[in-house]
Amino acid sequence: MRADYSIDIIIPVYNEEQNIPVLCEKLLELNLPFHKIILVNDGSSDSSLGICKELHAKNSLIEYISFSRNFGHQAALKAGYDYADADCVISMDGDMQHPVELIETLIAKWREGYDVVNTIRSDKEEKKIFKKYSSLYYYRLLSLITSVDIKQGTADFRLLDKKVVDICKKLGENPIFWRGIIPWLGFKQTFIGYTPQKRLYGTSKYTLKKMINLAWSGISSFSLLPLRIATFLGVIQIFFSACYFIYILLMYLLSNVEPGWSSIMIILLLTSGFQMCFLGILGEYVGKIFISEKNRPAYIVESSSIVKVINFGK
Ligand code: UDP
Ligand code: MG
Repeated sequence: MRADYSIDIIIPVYNEEQNIPVLCEKLLELNLPFHKIILVNDGSSDSSLGICKELHAKNSLIEYISFSRNFGHQAALKAGYDYADADCVISMDGDMQHPVELIETLIAKWREGYDVVNTIRSDKEEKKIFKKYSSLYYYRLLSLITSVDIKQGTADFRLLDKKVVDICKKLGENPIFWRGIIPWLGFKQTFIGYTPQKRLYGTSKYTLKKMINLAWSGISSFSLLPLRIATFLGVIQIFFSACYFIYILLMYLLSNVEPGWSSIMIILLLTSGFQMCFLGILGEYVGKIFISEKNRPAYIVESSSIVKVINFGK
């Protein structure tokens, strides 16, 4: 019997030549009503693009989009959402760490009526101590300084209903931090836990630099706290300068200090306090402009087997 719904799968691919054929085979074995499996080649330097093309030639369900260079995992997900048009869209990594078997559970939850089915990675089995604890404390910091409820261990393995994907298509934020944006969007959301499998082939494509960039993108897109710290420090400095101001004045009146010293100290202390304070305030506004004014596209497509579906409605 034909299913009354369709699924698109989006998979960011960065140097995953050995993993993608295995992943695609496992997905097709599930025998689900797939509309498209979209491989987003994020400027791979190995033969991933050639493999994507081969897979597409063998099976028309498998499509590919190829970037002009490496734009990053989050941009690859944006491209996936932009090109998807099924009733629900599932994003997952291309290294088999996200268990294929969980897809049926994601769909079951969606069929129950949830618009967003998130997954939460259990870090119990994580062998890399740095990754385990940096992730734990990062999410704690993020929930402390932002108003968005970003759950510890949120993964980019999730299902979105078509209506949520249509909103994702319209988001112009760049860089985008999906783990923050998705809870921010609202709708009916649920969470399911999973234990990540071992990467099938190759090593993690998230270098320390990429991890730091992602972490900073999360903080700077959802919090102005770092800028506020400057304002706060400026205010504290003004307070202490004012106290010192009184002390210097008393010293001037009651004892013999070097002429000129008191006035120079007062001017120095007060002006530097005000400078810090106003720099902080200025930073607040520059930060806002910085976040909203970057109109550069999140990615550039060099070649693809599909065309972008432009939603003119609504
Ligand atoms: N990835 C990507 N662009 C990048 C880095 C990673 O498209 O610049 C893809 C990668 O191929 C994989 C997913 O993003 O499908 C997650 O990356 P990885 O498995 O290396 O991250 P980890 O699991 O180590 O956090
Ligand atoms: Mg991985």
